[in-house]
Amino acid sequence: NTKRKPIVIANWKLNGGLELICTSVASFIGKHFEADIAICPPYIYMRDMLTFLQHSEISIGSQNVSKFKSGAYTGETSAQMLKEAGCKLCLIGHSERRSMFKENNLSCQIKIGNALNHGLMPILCVGENKEEHDAKITKDVIFRQVTECLEGVELDGRKICIAYEPIWAIGTGASATPEIAQDVHSFIRQELIKLYGEETANSIRLLYGGSVTKDNAKDLLAKEDVDGLLVGGASLDPGHFLAICQHA
Ligand code: PEP
Repeated sequence: NTKRKPIVIANWKLNGGLELICTSVASFIGKHFEADIAICPPYIYMRDMLTFLQHSEISIGSQNVSKFKSGAYTGETSAQMLKEAGCKLCLIGHSERRSMFKENNLSCQIKIGNALNHGLMPILCVGENKEEHDAKITKDVIFRQVTECLEGVELDGRKICIAYEPIWAIGTGASATPEIAQDVHSFIRQELIKLYGEETANSIRLLYGGSVTKDNAKDLLAKEDVDGLLVGGASLDPGHFLAICQHA
């Protein structure tokens, strides 16, 4: 962990409103963090948050990005638009996008390319479901997701993060143990070494997500290959999220 700067990202999903923005901004402004901190609010709030947070250390990220560049794609937002709006990073392939909005490894691969080409840092989300976990095929699932999503993706010094989010741990209160997270993260690291070589792979930050709270954040982050956290539910309480950020 000494060589990689920790990163903590809040994923608000389809939650929050002006009140949450105000309380979040009030708790984060003027604070210094050892980690990189980002909040991914719904698109409509990004600009407001950026305005309020412009002199803070907090970045704004998006929860998704279009695989298209422009055209007749109702409801979509392109990587270029997000970049222009001041966004620094974007989540790609969150399990909710995969299960409810038909995203797959190929669409993730295209989105990663778009994000990188427009200077957004992709946060690729991977993770197995409960059935796969119980069948002990987690690493096969992760291998497939990582290799297919990154196929043909050249980094050329550009940054990417990977978030391991076991689906059985998302929103369930049943976080993976630090040992499970470390085991899967080190597997991902080995695969990244095969794809990008040791130096690049060792610089890529691997986040854990799934029922992270202020009570388990520290033990998760203590693991060698857990370089950050992706926080859903607990990020909707600014005091709670702040406490998590202060552990990193
Ligand atoms: C998520 O969906 O990215 C997530 C980690 O959610 P939660 O923290 O609520 O499990």
